[in-house]
Amino acid sequence: MKWKKQILGLQPYQPGKSIEDVKKEYQLDSIVKLASNENPYGYSPKVDEALKNFESSYVLYPDGNASEIREVTASVLGVNEKQLVFSNGTDELIQIISRAMLEHGKNTVMAKPTFPQYRHNAVIEGAEVREVELIDGYHDLHQMLLEIDENTAIVWVCSPNNPTGSYTPKKELQAFLEKVPSDVLVVLDEAYYEYVEEPYDSLPFIEKYPNLVIMRTFSKIYGLASFRVGYGISSEENIQRLESARPPFNTNVLGQLVTSVAMTDQDFVAESRQRNALEREKYYHFCREHNLHFYPSEGNFILIDFERDGDEIAQFLLSKGLIVRSGKALGFPTSARITIGLEEQNERVRNALKEIMVNV
Ligand SMILES: *Cc1c(COP(=O)(O)O)cnc(C)c1O
Repeated sequence: MKWKKQILGLQPYQPGKSIEDVKKEYQLDSIVKLASNENPYGYSPKVDEALKNFESSYVLYPDGNASEIREVTASVLGVNEKQLVFSNGTDELIQIISRAMLEHGKNTVMAKPTFPQYRHNAVIEGAEVREVELIDGYHDLHQMLLEIDENTAIVWVCSPNNPTGSYTPKKELQAFLEKVPSDVLVVLDEAYYEYVEEPYDSLPFIEKYPNLVIMRTFSKIYGLASFRVGYGISSEENIQRLESARPPFNTNVLGQLVTSVAMTDQDFVAESRQRNALEREKYYHFCREHNLHFYPSEGNFILIDFERDGDEIAQFLLSKGLIVRSGKALGFPTSARITIGLEEQNERVRNALKEIMVNV
């Protein structure tokens, strides 16, 4: 058959082991998943309330305009409703943007390592991928700028960056936006924005730089990953273009309902941020105590270098019922990326790590 030749060289996304898999394989009762940066504190209690009271038909298509969540998001962020596009997770928004812009003969610039879906979608569209090594976990914006030429369509900036957790400083981002040609789209992926302790407001950049799209999600701090809702913020003109590439009913009725409720509960968001920061600090302390290199993180995960095979670390933790991501598939072969969980979960992880470190 006539598959795109790019597809033939790609592997499907490899999901981590599920809690059920690990339970069966290791005969354990208590499994903790700390591999995909979900919120260990769950989601706003208002969401359960809304789901209980949900009264509608599952027969009809959802609101293709996502009007309710659009209205709430516009009001909470202080942007125009026409400056928003909603998607089936930001994963889908990455796909929509790539599909709308990339093709053979064009190129796209991104950091390395960063969130793998930018590259994956670019490859499917047949575009050239230009990757620029991180410096100390941070985007090398200077070098990324040098990679841009007349065929560059998109530059991706992931901040805080997954998997390092590094948050691009405001001054550097602004200097970068000043220099990127105005016909090159800059996508700022802020999936972990709400976790940043002292964030700068990136939304005013939308007014100043019409070539900027900001992406955010309900999968991380809002704790609603299974509902698959993400969104983009940009100029009305850019959003209109992206709308043309968006499938008409890409967010579903329950996703629209729960996110519009969750968005109004910013107290829950603030509490999750504070509790995460407290627990993250304990990991820092642990790393310093054991002389382990880590990247200071503005997200709800930490990348720790154990100076030995990352798969081995992940495998050992798995045998203790703790699912984390080996750094091997993330571009850090001797590290592991661990989602910051609840206090007792993190203690379990650190105790297991102590065990493995004495058993070298
Ligand atoms: C998790 C994540 C996403 C994808 O989130 P969705 O669930 O698809 O909204 C996007 N970017 C980064 C950096 C992430 O870590």
